[in-house]
Amino acid sequence: MRTCDDCGGGMTVETGAVRRYELGGLPHVELHGVEVAHCPACGAEDVAIPRIEQLHRVLVSHFINQTRALAPIEVRFLRKHVGFSTADFAKCMGVLRETVSRWETGKKPMGAQADRLLRLLVATSAPIHDYAVKDVLRALNPSRPAPKRLGRFAVRASPDGWRPNREIVAA
Ligand SMILES: [Zn+2]
Repeated sequence: MRTCDDCGGGMTVETGAVRRYELGGLPHVELHGVEVAHCPACGAEDVAIPRIEQLHRVLVSHFINQTRALAPIEVRFLRKHVGFSTADFAKCMGVLRETVSRWETGKKPMGAQADRLLRLLVATSAPIHDYAVKDVLRALNPSRPAPKRLGRFAVRASPDGWRPNREIVAA
């Protein structure tokens, strides 16, 4: 039996669980089919996320193909995905570091051009078919702002990897 890192107690394991992707900074993303170890004694929980790189490709593809403007937490996720620190990203975009922080905390919306530039950076840094640049730009309508409360995006773990859970997305 697995023991808890925090208190040493025995942990129970639940498979096929659903958890929000808080650890990835994306609480609106729901992970379906994950394995969760839970400690009844202290309440500690450990979510096992398989194939994290592939999961991130699914999320990135979903984010950059959205027709609305990017939400602040999506900006942060995409910035990290292309491997930029806040300082490097600010340099690349030609803005102050504080501006990047405001985009990522939602204090200031990212403008339409910066939104496009970030999507292009992502699309060209990982040029696989999901990220076709022309599709991204055709889909994009940055004048449609991101809602304050993001709709949930669900993905399901399967033997072939993570896939968007369309039934739940549509609900
Ligand atoms: Zn414990």
